[in-house]
Amino acid sequence: MKKIMIAATTAALLSSTAFAQDTKHEKHWDYSQNGPSHWGDFSKTCAKGHAQSPINIVPGKSVKMDTSYKLTLHEDVHTTAKVIDNGHSIKVTPKEGGTIELHGETFKLLQFHFHGKSEHTVDGKRYDMVVHLVHQNMKTKQLAVIAVFFEEGKNNAILDNVLGGLNKEIRIDPADLLPADTQHYFHYVGSLTTPPCSENVQWYLLKQPATASKEQIEAFRKYYVDNERPIQELHDRKVEAE
Ligand SMILES: [Zn+2]
Repeated sequence: MKKIMIAATTAALLSSTAFAQDTKHEKHWDYSQNGPSHWGDFSKTCAKGHAQSPINIVPGKSVKMDTSYKLTLHEDVHTTAKVIDNGHSIKVTPKEGGTIELHGETFKLLQFHFHGKSEHTVDGKRYDMVVHLVHQNMKTKQLAVIAVFFEEGKNNAILDNVLGGLNKEIRIDPADLLPADTQHYFHYVGSLTTPPCSENVQWYLLKQPATASKEQIEAFRKYYVDNERPIQELHDRKVEAE
């Protein structure tokens, strides 16, 4: 009898755990009710990680770049790409991504997406917009993200192409997203800025911003304006500058 009761209790416990997990999975992370302060419910790393992104970059405290991690860009590829609104951002997935090289390894461009304000700040300055070009080392699976800040200025042809191509296939060259100067940047090791907030992500933040017109920034912000995660603690990490 006792044995049966224990079995029944265990079964009840198991099913209540399963239920709790199910309801958790039905919740979706976002930037409002289930916003950044709740992301620990979706992935512990978001709440407990000590190498999280974004951060505030303090140029005066940055150290000299470790040259073996210098960034070499090969993004100049003419390709088609799918443009979708994934509920967190406008995301563009090229059929044939360009590549970058760092530490003697090749990382392939998987996708790029936009934030309605920059996530990283530089000396506290938040840029008008940012594009994150997400790359992956196909051997080790490590991610490397290049961030290009946008400042209000001249019209940006590729942004028109992306915003006009929502739910369609467009022709693009990801190199068109890059500013003229790609040789100067900040580098550090951080995380994804959305759940699961996985760490060991190589971040490269180009110092020279690209431009977008006021109308383009407003057009993007009709979709997303507050899709930026708050600034995270630097902890014992160093930011390098090139
Ligand atoms: Zn992003």
